[in-house]
Amino acid sequence: MEPHRVVAIEVSAPGRRNDPHPAALQLGDGRQVSAMRAIMDIRYGVASYVVVDGDRTISVRVVGPCPHCGLEYLRADDDATTSDRLMRLPASPFAGRSLVPPG
Ligand SMILES: [Zn+2]
Repeated sequence: MEPHRVVAIEVSAPGRRNDPHPAALQLGDGRQVSAMRAIMDIRYGVASYVVVDGDRTISVRVVGPCPHCGLEYLRADDDATTSDRLMRLPASPFAGRSLVPPG
């Protein structure tokens, strides 16, 4: 299964300004998927997502629940000590539009 490359994200912080999480992922092919959809894809093995950083390919994982908001969220790092590469991607220029419908 070829992983989807994430090139940008839409960030939201429901209820907490200091607790941002990815809300949507923009893919290299121009499509955008909601974080909720991506979490379901990863959990059920339907699709996988990666961040490419130079010569490294980092898998997007489902982690949580977050100690601040209690929700599961997406992040991309090699282990718990490295920074989250997903949140360092540029903000999606298509934020809030053209979400890929389920199915
Ligand atoms: Zn949170």
